[in-house]
Amino acid sequence: MNPSKVSSWRCSCCGRTYFEKSTAERCCVCQRCGKKETKNGLVECIDCQIIASEERELKRWDGARKVRLSDYDDDIVYVESMERYVDADHDMIWEAFDDSQYPERIPLPSYRELGVYGIERMTLGIDANMVYEQVCEESYDDYSMSDEASRALYDMCSEWNERFGESMYVPDYKTAIAEG
Ligand SMILES: [Zn+2]
Ligand SMILES: [Zn+2]
Repeated sequence: MNPSKVSSWRCSCCGRTYFEKSTAERCCVCQRCGKKETKNGLVECIDCQIIASEERELKRWDGARKVRLSDYDDDIVYVESMERYVDADHDMIWEAFDDSQYPERIPLPSYRELGVYGIERMTLGIDANMVYEQVCEESYDDYSMSDEASRALYDMCSEWNERFGESMYVPDYKTAIAEG
């Protein structure tokens, strides 16, 4: 055994150590703006993370199909920046914008900046096809469900869904709502 001493470089901000001086110099320095503002070796400072996430959201809105609010055929929209579902109504969309949270926002942001999207409706219930497949999968090899049994299964599921199925909605990021 012939041990040798190694030296390392310490980041003056977070105290992590690195073998390479250049790596230590990059630690806690924002890769985007170069301000030494990040902590714990983060690659981007908080300001830049916010800018980057706003850019991502604008890009998503730009990439979506545009539907004018007046042509939109559901009565609920999703306002991404406020994480809220609101009535598909211009005044309600502005009400969703919490200007106490952004007191400096004059003029008000556009639908694009707010990230106004359509919604997708779905019903939560028992999927008869999935139950059918599960039964077949778990059965012996050449099992096949009789017509009577499969009909009963589909009837049972649809009756259950009618009585207990929950309707819900999620944002439809493929449909962006344009003003007007
Ligand atoms: Zn550091
Ligand atoms: Zn930065």
